[in-house]
Amino acid sequence: MNTQLLPATEDSLALAARLLADGQLVAFPTETVYGLGAHAMDAQAVLGIFAAKGRPGDNPLIVHIHDRSQLEDICEVNENALRLMDAFWPGPLTIILPRKNAVPYAVTANLETVAVRMPSHPVALAMLQRCGLPIAAPSANRSGKPSPTTAQHVLADMDGRIPLILDGGESDVGLESTVLSLVSERPCILRPGGITQSMLEAVVGPVDLAGSILRPLEKGEKALSPGMMYKHYSPDGQVTLIEGAENDVVEALRRLYAHAAGEGHRACVMCFTEHVNALADCAPHDIGHRNDPAEVAHRLFDTLRRLDDEKMDVIFSEVVPPEGVGLAVMNRLGRAAAFRTVQAENVI
Ligand code: AMP
Ligand code: MG
Repeated sequence: MNTQLLPATEDSLALAARLLADGQLVAFPTETVYGLGAHAMDAQAVLGIFAAKGRPGDNPLIVHIHDRSQLEDICEVNENALRLMDAFWPGPLTIILPRKNAVPYAVTANLETVAVRMPSHPVALAMLQRCGLPIAAPSANRSGKPSPTTAQHVLADMDGRIPLILDGGESDVGLESTVLSLVSERPCILRPGGITQSMLEAVVGPVDLAGSILRPLEKGEKALSPGMMYKHYSPDGQVTLIEGAENDVVEALRRLYAHAAGEGHRACVMCFTEHVNALADCAPHDIGHRNDPAEVAHRLFDTLRRLDDEKMDVIFSEVVPPEGVGLAVMNRLGRAAAFRTVQAENVI
């Protein structure tokens, strides 16, 4: 199949709408990451997403809408959901609610709940409006790869597998949406993202955090969000996270890099902008400023993909405090590292 990569114009949006109505797949920009969309009420079209991504069939998709009236056929809306939609839609918040029968089980991976979101990216909204359909979409990467934050990332993973990629530039947030379950007694964050726990609590009161956000699932533990089961967001090389006081971390990165490079590895470090000069001999990859977790979020997946392009096999990374948007960064970075962490003071 020939894959077209087109800037978003009246013509390409019309083409996207035709393809989606016809049961085909279209990749499109959102403010979080690029999505791979299909007509959500067409089970056959939705199965195409799993095939193109190589995604396990038990990992459900998010249904994207442009107008709340579309929810009538999709889910049971409750009071908290309405408050959260008023506060955060359109935007990077996905809400889990009880599903209605019209939603194919292919979308929900046989669950009785469904994930819904209204994205804020103008191209995503324009495409959703044009086709007038609810669009099921996960991130537009091959399963196991970092989510795409540019149209070029999507092309690298999906060339020949889908007919159309709409180019809307770099994704703003850079990490996938916050996923919040509203089916348990208390709202519960299944996946942290740009909408933080404190932002949600300001609207609906106390919000729980799923246990496995900053650690691997324990043996026999059931993933509340099936996506958490998989080794996600990972580059091909082995990533190790370095924790500790600022100066200790920089010194530890230098020693770990020197050791790995000395053993013949293609090694590098992921470090804050402030440390790039001090680590100039350690193949530094700038992840953004130390006190700006939103910048680190914005750059993270592009950096992880670059490591693969450069065929790095040993990577040492700084970490951010797991608070606010930093919690979302550490949830992804932790998984990229398979939670392998070293204390700087034990290295220097
Ligand atoms: P992606 O945006 O590609 O990461 O995929 C959608 C995410 O939403 C995955 O992590 C899913 O596990 C999660 N998700 C979708 N539907 C549900 C649901 N009904 N219950 C819990 N999590 C869900
Ligand atoms: Mg994904």
